[in-house]
Amino acid sequence: MNGNSDSELLSHPYISVLIPVFNEEPNLEELYKRLKQALDLYGKSYELLFIDDGSTDNSYEVLRWLHSSDSKVRAIKFARNFGQQMAIAAGLKYSRGDVVVLIDADLQTMPEEIPKLVDKLLEGYDIVYGIRQRRKDPLLRRIGSWCMSHLLYRITNIEIPDSASGFLALNRTFVDSINLFNEKSKYFSGLFAWLSYGRWGSVPVTHAPRRAGVSKYSIPKLIGLTLNFVCNFTTLPLRFAFYTGGVLATIGGGAFAAILALRLLGILGRLPAVETLGALIILCTGLQIFFIGIVGEYLGRVYVEVKERPPYVVKEVLDAQVSGSHDYAGN
Ligand code: UDP
Ligand code: MG
Repeated sequence: MNGNSDSELLSHPYISVLIPVFNEEPNLEELYKRLKQALDLYGKSYELLFIDDGSTDNSYEVLRWLHSSDSKVRAIKFARNFGQQMAIAAGLKYSRGDVVVLIDADLQTMPEEIPKLVDKLLEGYDIVYGIRQRRKDPLLRRIGSWCMSHLLYRITNIEIPDSASGFLALNRTFVDSINLFNEKSKYFSGLFAWLSYGRWGSVPVTHAPRRAGVSKYSIPKLIGLTLNFVCNFTTLPLRFAFYTGGVLATIGGGAFAAILALRLLGILGRLPAVETLGALIILCTGLQIFFIGIVGEYLGRVYVEVKERPPYVVKEVLDAQVSGSHDYAGN
């Protein structure tokens, strides 16, 4: 450590640890103790930045209490549940450290392994992933994750090393670049992987079952997250409508033209009703899907622009320097 004063170290700590929190009351005290112990031992200055993503239990009261006894604890409270991605977005904007570490609040990954990640980052990486050695999640969840990550890699061509570990370290320059991305619906694992362009480091990390409570990801939330990933990084589904429509219209149009030609050449005595109707239906359906594909390309873009919702709304900030109410909307 250098000879900086406490307030200097607080306003510019070396490490910012970001912790998204959604109804994690039973885990917070233990998490704080382990983070503090590990980071005090590591000897670099740090801040613990908790983002309460609209918890309905007493998580925020615990954070308020931790903040009152330790100014290294900062907390942001969202006005409602905006989702883990938005909590990370807020954390990245509010963080002040040269190194930013992301860790979940449920102690599935070990605070004691933060120094390992940071040391690896100091070898010159923008991003270092904690790769879970033996993932301790329910079997169905692991199978689903495995299938999805392979499928998504095929669709988006973005390879995310252990996307759901939620345990990684980033350097300040990388965080500043990520903060320039103004898209409202964010999928950070994708953004990180996309921006780091394959130049990432990794360290093996231990994974444990959630310490208390249940996963905050329901199936609809997981589907939402997956759609976020796909829609943010590829227009392939829209192109799918485009191509399907194009192929159907060509088949229908071709069949209709062939029937017409056979009739005109006198090979068919009359237009066969069922075949002609079938060809026309396929042609029309194809054209409709094709034009929906075109409209969809524009509509998707217009929709995102027109909504202009703030991606998150902060209700309150617990911070040694800035305190009180803020109406900061993350634009
Ligand atoms: N989380 C959040 N907002 C949400 C869902 C989750 O801030 O809407 C936090 C949660 O408190 C935890 C982290 O994100 O710190 C990962 O959530 P969880 O452990 O439930 O996910 P899983 O391990 O089941 O993938
Ligand atoms: Mg978890």
